Amino acid sequence: MQRSDAERHSIVSTHRPYHCEDAPVSFKAEYIWIDGTEPTAELRSKTKVLADGAEPGVWGFDGSSTNQAEGHASDRVLQPVFTCPDPIRGGDNILVLCEVLNIDGTAHETNHRAALRTVAERFAAQESIFGIEQEYTFLTEDGRPLGFPEGGFPAPQGPYYCGVGAGKVVGREIVEKHLDACMEAGLAICGINAEVMPGQWEFQIGPVGPLEVSDHMWVARWLLHRIAEDYNVVVSLDAKPAKGDWNGAGAHTNFSTKAMREGYDAIITACESLGASQDIVMEHVTQYGSGVEERLTGKHETAPWNVYSYGVSNRGASVRIPWQVEVDKKGYIEDRRPNANVDPYVVTRLLVNTCCSALEK
Ligand code: ADP
Ligand code: MN
Ligand code: MN
Ligand code: MN
Ligand code: MN
Repeated sequence: MQRSDAERHSIVSTHRPYHCEDAPVSFKAEYIWIDGTEPTAELRSKTKVLADGAEPGVWGFDGSSTNQAEGHASDRVLQPVFTCPDPIRGGDNILVLCEVLNIDGTAHETNHRAALRTVAERFAAQESIFGIEQEYTFLTEDGRPLGFPEGGFPAPQGPYYCGVGAGKVVGREIVEKHLDACMEAGLAICGINAEVMPGQWEFQIGPVGPLEVSDHMWVARWLLHRIAEDYNVVVSLDAKPAKGDWNGAGAHTNFSTKAMREGYDAIITACESLGASQDIVMEHVTQYGSGVEERLTGKHETAPWNVYSYGVSNRGASVRIPWQVEVDKKGYIEDRRPNANVDPYVVTRLLVNTCCSALEK
């Protein structure tokens, strides 16, 4: 959010240490990073108070408390890579997304952004862009999806997707606050919708480049957890939060290169490359988030996890070519396999690597 100097001053002046008029003004930088929790990494953050005008520099943390180090050599380094206004605290405060490094400056093994940087750079000429659809589920503190009655189930799926009205949607207040927060932070959020299962929602980030979509996705996830925290609501990226006849939660990943945005041959080449061998199929799907076999069953608008297919308009295929793309003979493809809990740095790296290698030939 842009503020005038006068407004800015009236906000930051309340942050003068000890309310002392002569003390330097300062602001808060929330350093955010991705931890080493298995099988699905989680977000961590802590606050640094900086003097007015200061840049957020490298910082450190105790890696032995985040599954990123042993106690006897616990220091890990936070390298800022993306900053934006902090819509939670407002004013001049900022969010600072970081890569985790070892003390010798090398990327920590849990830092998947580093590998994406290399691949994105190698294929930069192909101008890859992504839109990721993040599905997620609100849970009560004891683990029940919002809208599920205690000890039972709501009416079967049908009225909930893009629904309106009490009894059909739950959690909208949080969802609206999250959308506003993402927009205020300047993230490339492009939409939201209520999902097929009660308590399940989606937001989309894109279409922007691989590093940008991933950085924005992690910050958007952090904002969602942070806002829901104020309501004692848990945000779950579990791929199958309710067992049985309920939709899972995915992260459909929409992808195009310049050539795909200009012609249909490149669209088909990309689709074919993702199924070129069973090794490639498995390389992708085993890194598309934990619990992928539970969600990609062949039911509930999914393809079986270990069998690759693609098709026009087919929501039962691994990869869908949207109908408009077939009509226009150009556009993008949708990889429907990634789980809600996928690391965006990983899925974008795999897609760029596999598709751009094939398109390069
Ligand atoms: P659906 O729910 O029908 O699968 P959504 O509207 O939720 O689709 O998401 C479509 C996504 O496709 C959006 O995130 C958008 O940013 C992305 N997208 C649109 N055009 C392109 C493109 N040329 N390349 C990559 N992604 C794109
Ligand atoms: Mn301490
Ligand atoms: Mn969608
Ligand atoms: Mn969806
Ligand atoms: Mn989709």
